[in-house]
Amino acid sequence: MIVYSLNCSKGHSFDEWFTSSGDYDEQIKTKSLACPTCGDKKVAKGLMAPNVAKSTAAPACGAPTCASTGCPMSGLK
Ligand SMILES: [Zn+2]
Repeated sequence: MIVYSLNCSKGHSFDEWFTSSGDYDEQIKTKSLACPTCGDKKVAKGLMAPNVAKSTAAPACGAPTCASTGCPMSGLK
């Protein structure tokens, strides 16, 4: 199961469970999803704030854009 945060066209957000991402696509296609608040069927995947673990890579330099490997600052000693 997978949960998606969905938004209707009126700005309501709600969570919906799907068996897979393909299930989500199917339900969007067949318009079997509706906003529980207003019944709007124009729903789309919302911006998720997933609890994805952030990269644990230690910054090689203080540059905010530093991606450690290949950091242009890392060659400067
Ligand atoms: Zn709504």
